[in-house]
Amino acid sequence: MTSSTADVVIVGAGFGGMYMLHKMRGLGLRAIVLERATGVGGTWYWNRYPGARCDVESMQYSYSFDPQLQQEWNWSERFASQPEILSYANHVADRLDLRRDIRFETSVTSAAYDEASQSWMVGTDGGDTVTARFCVMATGCLSTSRQPDFPGLSNFKGKTYHTGHWPHEGVDFTGKRVGVIGTGSSAIQAIPVIAEQAAHLTVFQRTPNFSIPTRNKAMDGAYEGWWKKDYPKHRNLARTLRAGVITNLNDMSALSVDAAERQRVYEDRWALGGTSFMASFNDLSVNKASNDTAAEFVRSKIRATITDPAVAEILLPHNHPIGTKRICVDSHYYETYNRPNVSLVDVRNSPIETITADGVMVAGREYPVDIIVFATGFDAMTGTLVGINPHGRDGATLAEEWEAGPRTYLGLMSAQFPNLFMITGPGSPSVLSNMIVSIEQHVDWVSDCIAYMNRNGLTAIEPRRDAQDAWVEHVNEMAFRTLYPTANSWYMGANIPGKPQVFMPYIGGVGAYRVKCDDVAAKGYEGFELGAGQARAAAE
Ligand code: NAP
Repeated sequence: MTSSTADVVIVGAGFGGMYMLHKMRGLGLRAIVLERATGVGGTWYWNRYPGARCDVESMQYSYSFDPQLQQEWNWSERFASQPEILSYANHVADRLDLRRDIRFETSVTSAAYDEASQSWMVGTDGGDTVTARFCVMATGCLSTSRQPDFPGLSNFKGKTYHTGHWPHEGVDFTGKRVGVIGTGSSAIQAIPVIAEQAAHLTVFQRTPNFSIPTRNKAMDGAYEGWWKKDYPKHRNLARTLRAGVITNLNDMSALSVDAAERQRVYEDRWALGGTSFMASFNDLSVNKASNDTAAEFVRSKIRATITDPAVAEILLPHNHPIGTKRICVDSHYYETYNRPNVSLVDVRNSPIETITADGVMVAGREYPVDIIVFATGFDAMTGTLVGINPHGRDGATLAEEWEAGPRTYLGLMSAQFPNLFMITGPGSPSVLSNMIVSIEQHVDWVSDCIAYMNRNGLTAIEPRRDAQDAWVEHVNEMAFRTLYPTANSWYMGANIPGKPQVFMPYIGGVGAYRVKCDDVAAKGYEGFELGAGQARAAAE
């Protein structure tokens, strides 16, 4: 058990924590990173399930802060696989010599603000404490996996895995009967790969999803060259866009063209592949009638792909507008249901009853399996933060403050928790954007803020409650201008029983959000209370 002091304690060594550490060193500050994994990479460290791949093009999914770094790294595919992204994270850690300030296999179990010394005391599972003036939660948005409490699970004789906690040594499905529970983004990527290996694969689907073919391919040298030639220009453009991704938005309503033209546009986007399908027209996320045209197009593709019409019927998404649950991307997902060794079980109206010793029981029938893969998602955006449950000023706890849903100012800080920053916290564009673009924006903003405080002899910063209330209201109002809140998505907290149903990310767009954050800083951190602590000076 040790106790250490630093200027900044950072929780998490994913892309957020790594860049934060680098920036703090740049300010001449001592930072310590606490990371529960054995290595860097965050989400890309944990989600090693077969088929895991990023849905943002690799030329756009990397750090932009170091010109040489972005020039020297070569991506091998249009959409990078998990192992390649993890190699990239390790490359960055090596190149910036980050590991010497990261404590691996260290889970944070507590974080408490000491008002007298204006510092955070962060406790770990090993009994260690790190005390620092600033605490930065770079804990990720999808880092607390969720496994439903199926009755009988402990009786199961086979092996179980969660996509978000995949074993490093991999899983051999050869000759096995495998059950996959869930059909979200993770399952949709894993299912085609597992089906190729397994003796039989049974997919248990509660809600069908919309998925677009990825059309992944080897990196085209000319395309890579185009990006690298003008990388700063492209990065700057991405920072001004809605999702922080250059997607070639077709800036017209789906209803402004006739049916034949609409079909042509959708066919082109379908052939192109990837999430840019949602940029086919400019109103798919706000106009239900427009959205219906895109949804029906994808349903027609599903019908055309699946040989058995009864199976196709089960796979057709009908209960949410396309894109309001995170759009999925796949490599041969729908085709997989034409394989003789794959079957689909609809558990929408007949939920999984129990897990037996030998399988999964649905509607009184046992589906025998040797392995169960839980692709059941995450307690997104708030799960990890509330799990740590920071104790702030005047006895406030994050769990209580966020009881009715997360409350932040700009997704960066929460009232009652001075000097506690969140990287891509709820109330910021985060999961609706290219995460690396949003991570860099937050880390830059927080670093500038800490530098400003140090320059001005300020020792504490905290959002004012009125500023926070106004931001929460704005986040909510913006969400309800769109179709997003109509879906039972994890964006709404709907996947976790009892979780408050609040639309958590900020949908106003990465570009507009950046302007707002910069404006707040330019106005001397408008909406924040900044103080110079005599108490800290006395304590030191
Ligand atoms: P998810 O989207 O939350 O999907 C979880 C799945 O499990 C859903 O199909 C859900 O059904 C099902 N499920 C949960 N509880 C169940 C139960 N009791 N019985 C039956 N089914 C149950 O989780 P995910 O697939 O891990 O993806 C989470 C997010 O991670 C994505 O939305 C995306 O943002 C990110 N991700 C991205 C990529 C990529 O970049 N390509 C890949 C993977 C993940 P319901 O829908 O009915 O709740």
